[in-house]
Amino acid sequence: MSVSNIRMKSSVAEGKGVSSDFELGHIRNIGIIAHIDAGKTTVTEKILYVSGRTSKLGAVDDGTAVMDWMELEQERGITICAAATTSYWKDHRINIIDTPGHVDFTAEVERSLRVLDGGVVILDSVAGVQAQSETVWRQANKYGVPRICFVNKMDRIGADFLRSVNTMEKRLHCKALPIQIPWGKEKEFKGVFDLIELKAWLFDMTSGFSLTEVDIPADEVSGVQEQRQVLIERLAEEDDCLMGDYVDGRAISEVSIKEALRRATLANRIVPVSCGSALKNAGVQPLLDAIVDYLPSPSDVLPVEGISVKTGQPVMYEPLETEPFAALAFKVVTDAFAGRLVYLRVYSGRLDAGEQVFNTTRDRKERLGRLLRMHANYREDVAVAKVGEIIATVGLKNTFTGDTLCSSAKPILLEAISFPEPVVSVAIEPKTKASQDKIVDALIKLAEEDPTFETNYDSETGETIISGMGELHLEVILERLRREFKVDARIGTPQVAYKETITQTIEAEGRFVRQFGGRGQYGHVWIKLEPQESGKGFEFVDKVQGGAIPKNYISAVANGIKEALRNGPLAGYPLVDVKATVYDGSYHQVDSSEVAFKVAGSMALKEGARRAKPVFLEPVMKIEVVTPEQYLGSILGSLQSRRMQIESIEIQDEARIILGFIPLVETFGCATDLRSLSQGMMSHSIEFNHYQRVPHEVAERILAVRGVR
Ligand code: GDP
Repeated sequence: MSVSNIRMKSSVAEGKGVSSDFELGHIRNIGIIAHIDAGKTTVTEKILYVSGRTSKLGAVDDGTAVMDWMELEQERGITICAAATTSYWKDHRINIIDTPGHVDFTAEVERSLRVLDGGVVILDSVAGVQAQSETVWRQANKYGVPRICFVNKMDRIGADFLRSVNTMEKRLHCKALPIQIPWGKEKEFKGVFDLIELKAWLFDMTSGFSLTEVDIPADEVSGVQEQRQVLIERLAEEDDCLMGDYVDGRAISEVSIKEALRRATLANRIVPVSCGSALKNAGVQPLLDAIVDYLPSPSDVLPVEGISVKTGQPVMYEPLETEPFAALAFKVVTDAFAGRLVYLRVYSGRLDAGEQVFNTTRDRKERLGRLLRMHANYREDVAVAKVGEIIATVGLKNTFTGDTLCSSAKPILLEAISFPEPVVSVAIEPKTKASQDKIVDALIKLAEEDPTFETNYDSETGETIISGMGELHLEVILERLRREFKVDARIGTPQVAYKETITQTIEAEGRFVRQFGGRGQYGHVWIKLEPQESGKGFEFVDKVQGGAIPKNYISAVANGIKEALRNGPLAGYPLVDVKATVYDGSYHQVDSSEVAFKVAGSMALKEGARRAKPVFLEPVMKIEVVTPEQYLGSILGSLQSRRMQIESIEIQDEARIILGFIPLVETFGCATDLRSLSQGMMSHSIEFNHYQRVPHEVAERILAVRGVR
C-alpha cells in the first residue's frame, strides 16, 4: 500500500484532511504502559482500529492481535517486543510504542520511556495499581514522562473506579484527577460522565464503537457536579492561573480547565484519569482525545542535551528542523523481511533516506538505506524523518541500542540508555551437535536485540552461558531459539550472578619489582580501599603528592585496580562498590613502566580486598503474590522459608496481596510450589530490585558450591 493510500484511509476515517507533514505540535509519541493483563494490548488494538489504521480487529483472546506480531507473543498473550505503530486522530499523528507488561522485560520499558514524550497508564478497574504498575511508574518518573491514566475493564465484576484512583494516590504517590466518572459499573457500565464538558457519553456496549452524546440523567447531575468541583479545586492547587480565576470567583470555562489540565500534566503535577472497557470498545475515543489534549508534543519537551564531540562541552539542540540532526537508536530487531531494523527517535533536525550519518558512540560513519514508518509487522516507506519522529531504519549495520546518530558536521553524544545487568545465568547447549554453529549465531542476534541478555563462552568449562533478568526471560529466549531460529536447546541449572564487596576501610601496598638481566620492572603503590554506598560502583581517586608516582603512571594504576575488581577475593565474583584512593608509592627512573604500575595497582587491590572483610552480595527481587484468603497461611509459610522479607499484606475483597522482597536464588521453582499450594489460584510477579549482603549460612553454601571450601 502506498503512503498516500494510508493517509487517505486515516483522513477518511477522521473525516478531515490529514496533511503529510505534521507540525511538531500535532505529534504525540506515547507509550502504553501497565501491569500484565491490565489490557494494554486490547487498548492499543482498539486505538488503532478507531483511528482507522486497521480494518480487521485483532483480539488478544483468539491470538490475532495486530500488535502481538511475534508468533510467540500470540501464543502467550503477552507483548514482549515493543512495536512502534503510527495512527492518526483529529489531525494529530500518534506514534505508539506498545511496551511489555512483564517485568522480566524491563529493558523494553526502559528504552521506550527514554524516547517517548508521554505515557498512557492502563489500570485494571478491579485490581487498581499492581506491582508492575509501580515499577513502570518509577521508571517513568526517572525520565519525567507526563502521564494520563485509563482505568480499564469497567465491565468486570468488582470494578471500582474511585478505588482504583485511590490506589494511584496511595501506591504511586501521584495526584490522580478523574476527568470522567463511569456511568454504571460491571454489567451495568454503559458510558461516562465528562466532568469538564458536563455531558454524558453513552457507549454501544454490544457491537461497534459508536458513542452518543446525551444529557446527564437528572438523578446523576448533583453527583457529577460535585466531582467536577473536586476536579477544579484540586487542579487549581497545582495551577496558579486556574487558582486565580477560582479565588476571584470568575466563571471557569471548559477551555480554562483543559488548559490548566494540560499545563499541570506536562509539569508532572497531576495525572488525568479516564475510564472505560477496551474489550467492549467503550471509552476509546475519549481516551484518544485525552492523549491529544493532555500529553506533550515533541515541542513541549526540553531541548535534547548532549556533549559536543568537538568541544567536549554540553550542548543543547532545540526540537527544530533547522537544528543539526541528532537521534537516539533505541531498538534493534532482525526483521524477517526487511533485515536488521534500527528504531530511532529523532530529537532535532531531519534525516533523509539514503543519507550518511555519524554514529558518535562508535565513532564511525554509516549510510542509511530506507526509512520505514511501522505498523506492527506492516511497513510504509518514507523519504524523510523529521524532528520528533519515531522511525525504523534499514541499512545501519553497526548501530546498536543506545547509540547516538547525528550529522557529521556537528557531532554530539546523547546520554545512552541505562540497562540493568543480567542477574541470572545458565549453561545452554543444542540438543543436536549439528546445531552448535546455528545456536551461537542465534544467541548473538538475540543479544544484539536485547541489552539485558548476554551470551558468553566459558573457556574453562567449554560451555555457552546465557544471562538475563529472570527465569521467564531465559525461557522466552529458549522458545525464540526454537521458533525463529529452529534450534532446540536444553539448559542447565540457573546460576545467580553474585557480587562481592568490602566492608572495612583498609590501606594496602602493591609492590612489583623485578630485576632481569638488563632493564627491570618497578611499580610501587599505596592505596586506601573504602566501602561505597550500595549501587555506587567503583570510584578512583588520585591523591599522590610530591610526584611520588609520576602522573603518567596513575591511569595505569587505575587500570590495574579495575582489572583486579573482576575477580573478588572470596570466590571470584566481581567486586563492586569500592572506592580506591592512591596516595603514595615510589618509582624508578629506568625500570618503571605503565605495565609495572598496572601490576602494582592490581596487587594492592587484591591484597587489600582480602583484608577488608569482604562479603557476598546477592540479587534481591521485588515480589507480589495475589492469593485467595484461604491459601494465605500456607503461601506465607512457603515464602518465609524462602527468606522473603514481607513488607505488607493488603486486603482486596477475597484476595490477599503479599508484597515484599525475596532473594533471586530462592525464587527458582517458587512459582510451581506456590501454584500447588494454592491449587493454581495464586498469581505472582517478580522483578529485580537491588543487591543485598547474604547471610552467613548462605555465604558458606556459595563457597562450598564454588569449591572454595
Ligand atoms: P496486556 O497483558 O496488558 O496487554 O492485556 P491484554 O490486552 O492482553 O488483556 C488481558 C486480558 O484482559 C484479555 O483476556 C483481554 O480480553 C481482557 N480484557 C482487556 N480489556 C478488557 C476489558 O475492558 N474488560 C474485560 N472484561 N476484559 C478485558
